[in-house]
Amino acid sequence: MLEKKHHEYREKIRAFALEKIAPVADRIDQEQRFPHEHIQPLVDIGLLSALVPEKYGGKPVDTISYAIGVEEISRVCGSTGIMVAAHNSLGTYPIDKFGTEAQRQKYLPRAAKGELIAFGLSEPDAGSDAGGTRTMARKAENGWIINGSKCWITNAITAFATIGTARTSEDPQDKAITTFIVEKEWDGYAVGKKENKLGLRGSDTAFLHFDDLKVPDENLLGKVGEGFKQMLITLDGGRISIGAMALGLGQGALDCALKYAADRVQFGKPIAYNQAIQAKLSDMATEIEAARLLIYDCARRKDAGEKFTRYSAMCKLYASEVGRRSAEWAMDILGGVGYYTGVHSAERIWRDVKLCEIGEGTSEVQRLVIARELLRELKAKGTVI
Ligand SMILES: Cc1cc2nc3c(=O)[nH]c(=O)nc-3n(C[C@H](O)[C@H](O)[C@H](O)COP(=O)(O)OP(=O)(O)OC[C@H]3O[C@@H](n4cnc5c(N)ncnc54)[C@H](O)[C@@H]3O)c2cc1C
Repeated sequence: MLEKKHHEYREKIRAFALEKIAPVADRIDQEQRFPHEHIQPLVDIGLLSALVPEKYGGKPVDTISYAIGVEEISRVCGSTGIMVAAHNSLGTYPIDKFGTEAQRQKYLPRAAKGELIAFGLSEPDAGSDAGGTRTMARKAENGWIINGSKCWITNAITAFATIGTARTSEDPQDKAITTFIVEKEWDGYAVGKKENKLGLRGSDTAFLHFDDLKVPDENLLGKVGEGFKQMLITLDGGRISIGAMALGLGQGALDCALKYAADRVQFGKPIAYNQAIQAKLSDMATEIEAARLLIYDCARRKDAGEKFTRYSAMCKLYASEVGRRSAEWAMDILGGVGYYTGVHSAERIWRDVKLCEIGEGTSEVQRLVIARELLRELKAKGTVI
């Protein structure tokens, strides 16, 4: 499935990640500091415009390469990995996919230069049930007035614009949701404080509040009422990148455990000589490889123009569970020192990777998506259920 260009791309991103990102990964976690210093190098290497067409200043790559990029960055730093994944898959992608030419020209060149775009779907009362959005957009002269709050938004503090959803009908029965591109500098747009999280502590996660936020008509993304469908399509792609993030974190845990098992001597020999340790390492490596194949296969399906909803849910579900198990087993292999913060990366990875089972739909939601797709296929073949 992989071509020479994919292997070369991995080598390039791996070298970059080891040189620029890895040395500060522990520090940004401990200081809960957004890695501003990574923005320009990420721009230069093309990772903040991986899905932006060249004519808007992007350095586009195919989806397998993009997944490899997120994987290799996350392998050394989850906080930087999620920043990259959210900006590309949830920020630039919907503008390119659903936007007007004027919107693309206005927002994508800025995004390609490293100005981040956030994605505001979740709300305090609308998480898994994103259709339950309460943020309201009312029609006004030449535009819309938006009121409501979005929660747990990645890159919220740094982003100059957000892809935000709102209901556009006063009728409580009408669940029509519409997407808008809103800008931080506008009156009525406020960013909450940085959330204190278990993991991904360098990543900026915050509330966004829209208080009589005036949005011009030209900032409506697509058509009124199309927002929910647009978000589902966006999340199909986003889940490949969350899968890739979990894969990179899981691989990072294996890297750490393998090295430690070879170095650590107990009972007169490296602990790696014990079959119980070898079994863990083998299972980690096998599951990680299986997750990798699922992710790349899904990326290939996306680029081939196939329907890939089921496969993106599968790869995100499987990779995030594999990533979590890999981090946990790495901590087992590290023994007591694995429990310390800032000594070996397994503990940071263990805290970071949990998000992959939550963000862009929990594992329970991925299972609902997969089952829904399986049943739809069964019905299409004529089975009555
Ligand atoms: C660090 C972080 C970053 C995030 N970044 C973003 C972002 O950039 N943009 C954004 O819009 N959102 C973001 N989110 C929000 C994230 O997408 C939601 O947290 C997630 O979708 C789950 O929603 P919830 O937290 O409201 O959980 P809930 O929906 O309240 O779910 C709680 C539990 O109930 C289960 N559950 C719910 N419904 C069902 C069901 N029908 N069947 C079975 N089980 C069910 C869930 O699986 C979960 O276990 C982020 C979250 C975090 C923690």
